[in-house]
Amino acid sequence: MKDKLGWIEEELDRLKAAGLYTTIRTLNSPQGAWLEVDGRRVLNFCSNNYLGLANHPRLVAKTKEAIDRYGVGPGAVRTIAGTMTLHIELERRLAEFKGAEAAISFQSGYNANLATIPAITGKEDLIISDELNHASIIDGVRLSKASRAVYKHRDTDSLRQVLQENSGKYRRTIVISDGVFSMDGDIAPLDKIVQLAKEFNAITMVDDAHGEGVLGRGGRGIVDYFGLHGQVDIEVGTMSKAFGVVGGYVAGDHRIVEWLHQRGRPFLFSSAMTVPDTAACLASVEMLSESTELVDRLWDNARYFQTAMRDLGFDTGHTETPITPVMLGDEKLAQTFSRRLYEEGVFGTAIAYPTVPKGMARIRVMISAAHTQEDLNQGLAIFSQVGRELGVIR
Ligand SMILES: *Cc1c(COP(=O)(O)O)cnc(C)c1O
Repeated sequence: MKDKLGWIEEELDRLKAAGLYTTIRTLNSPQGAWLEVDGRRVLNFCSNNYLGLANHPRLVAKTKEAIDRYGVGPGAVRTIAGTMTLHIELERRLAEFKGAEAAISFQSGYNANLATIPAITGKEDLIISDELNHASIIDGVRLSKASRAVYKHRDTDSLRQVLQENSGKYRRTIVISDGVFSMDGDIAPLDKIVQLAKEFNAITMVDDAHGEGVLGRGGRGIVDYFGLHGQVDIEVGTMSKAFGVVGGYVAGDHRIVEWLHQRGRPFLFSSAMTVPDTAACLASVEMLSESTELVDRLWDNARYFQTAMRDLGFDTGHTETPITPVMLGDEKLAQTFSRRLYEEGVFGTAIAYPTVPKGMARIRVMISAAHTQEDLNQGLAIFSQVGRELGVIR
């Protein structure tokens, strides 16, 4: 009889041969500038722990306190018996931090997109998406019955053309973009997108996963960065990156939030954020509301590292944020580069197709406020050594 699952081995072998097989490493330490990975201490250049909050004492303390008071599990979905005062408090503080009318939390940023996009669109509507939008937006769009169109990456002429071509054909039009694009670190032209959306009466939605805690005053995000308060209808955020925990949210008009309470499927059909997650997120928002210190340090570190990398001769693409792509092109080269970095004590993952287009493989360095200058210098020295060894720089 034919092996029903034999095809998986063949597919996996194909991935391995093409340098596209993902090796998953296991951490045996908290997140931080340094990690213990598979029994070795390595410099962490690849997590989204932008502000070093993932193991911050204040988050840990607040979480312990909350566990003592509320236990760990929410016990239900939000709409049945899973809404705790912690959730309400987190949502209130998030809205305040973002300068938005209201906020609603979800179990993850991914879920926030899956909840929102199908809830606000139906088959009479059109969703217009940047061609490089995150997979969670793409999946949210797939779950909607709306028609869809893409515009060229960050290209507002292309967006205008799509808006024009479709003007008057749909009940509602929604323009969705990542705020910061996670693989290149470039920023969406949100000011121009908002202008165009106004002109064509389209709803605007931005997924600020990599801008949250990074861009704007004290990390208030891309809307704050562009001074667009009250002009972006839906801001999706994640608490899994700079906030150092896990969870997602939508901030915006109170009607959007109220609608998602009624129609956001991951809100209705998947249990609430747990007590520890919610409490830790609350501590993150409190810390960011109080001080810009961590965000300032993140940017100082990013500028320092990126300048030094360019001086060494590396191509860091067109990043405008602490995300630092080290462009290598070839998938195999990127894998070898990553392996050699690792052997030398730097944990920097190779990112290749299908996460980025074929032939655009890279090491993506994620700079954090947790890094000291000594850490960065050590990383730079190893990048320089491996870069020369593999003929990437001279
Ligand atoms: C990381 C990311 C997400 C997913 O966030 P999670 O909270 O990890 O689910 C969604 N959108 C974008 C743009 C992201 O970069």
